[in-house]
Amino acid sequence: MSPLPFPPDRPHFDQKFRAGVLGATGIVGQRLVQLLANHPWFELTEVAASERSSGKTYAEAAKWHLNEAVPTAAAKLVVKGLEPNLDCDFVFSALDSSVAGSAEEDFARAGYPVVSNSKNHRMDPDVPLLIPEVNAAHLDSIPLQQKNRGYGSGFIVTNPNCSTAGLVLVLKPLADAFGLEKLFVVTMQAASGAGYPGVPSLDILGNVVPFISGEEEKMETEPQKLLGKWDGARFVEAGLGISAHCNRVPVENGHLESVSMSLKKVATLAEVREVLRDYTVNDELAALPTALKNPVVVLDEENRPQPRRDVNAGNGMAAAVGRIRECPLLDVKLTLLSHNLLRGAAGAALLNAELLAVRGFLPRTRVSADAAAQPQPA
Ligand code: NAP
Repeated sequence: MSPLPFPPDRPHFDQKFRAGVLGATGIVGQRLVQLLANHPWFELTEVAASERSSGKTYAEAAKWHLNEAVPTAAAKLVVKGLEPNLDCDFVFSALDSSVAGSAEEDFARAGYPVVSNSKNHRMDPDVPLLIPEVNAAHLDSIPLQQKNRGYGSGFIVTNPNCSTAGLVLVLKPLADAFGLEKLFVVTMQAASGAGYPGVPSLDILGNVVPFISGEEEKMETEPQKLLGKWDGARFVEAGLGISAHCNRVPVENGHLESVSMSLKKVATLAEVREVLRDYTVNDELAALPTALKNPVVVLDEENRPQPRRDVNAGNGMAAAVGRIRECPLLDVKLTLLSHNLLRGAAGAALLNAELLAVRGFLPRTRVSADAAAQPQPA
């Protein structure tokens, strides 16, 4: 099933929020810059990166990897360093993890909401690890984070690791319908997941590398937080048994995952298929510009999903699922695919920021009730 078109009753803000991107020159940062170019709510006003880039125009500093040209407005911006004095209402962080931890804290302490892609704060006990379709209620932890850390109006929200993002999007409707017990997952992850220049070509061409540093640990811990609950004081983990094997493969974009799972309630394959096909987000989420009404796309062909054919399902924000069948060891097995740079990184951060905007967490919240009732162009 194709994702439904955007709804006509999208909220409208009188003035755009001004966004900065930390790590704007990297592979995720470039995607963010591209996605922000025509965003209805956000306007890119600042780009920041390392000393190698600062002082140059964005067009000079970024080794641009995308097919479309650098957005005109972004090309002229001068790249800044990581001092938290940027002219923007909030920042996205696509920083290398060697600097993200302290830089994100500095920005939050200076009053900026920080919407991060990096791993550093994902598992902090007071930081939401967010997939809006899965655990929007975890945003309730932000006031406690601000109080604990003395952040004032600033805070940090993170999105999961790129291979966890697609996996948990598919697990969520199954967990709600049947309950999940155990999970065994093997990934085939795209080269772009390693940033730029990433894995040397002589290591990855015609080859598979059965190790991605830290990846299996992330896949075994992040779903526990995402599928768990915020109880008002702390995150309570989901308590799933998870075993992950992570492999780097010579694919440009798209992480493919073979998953076997055991369910708490007995379910037929037809019921599993139906739950995934019918997975529909609520009206608040469906109204976000980057959201899909149906974020899981079920494919019936026996040899799908495939990265080359299916990575852009739902503008790169869907998880494509196929090969739903019985598992002789656990209960059900399936194959899923999601775009590591969109659903797994830049698109995920954008969706998180959109949810923060409509929930009133960004500093200038001017939702016009009248305009919200008016049809908006898709
Ligand atoms: P990347 O291509 O290597 O880009 C890293 C960015 O960090 C660049 O803008 C770089 O600026 C900046 N940077 C590096 N060292 C710095 C320093 N000392 N001070 C200030 N800025 C510095 O990496 P990426 O793939 O875009 O990943 C960015 C973050 O997102 C990482 O934390 C990664 O783990 C996470 N992530 C990536 C993916 C993916 O699929 N690639 C998915 C999910 C999450 P310069 O250009 O000036 O060096």
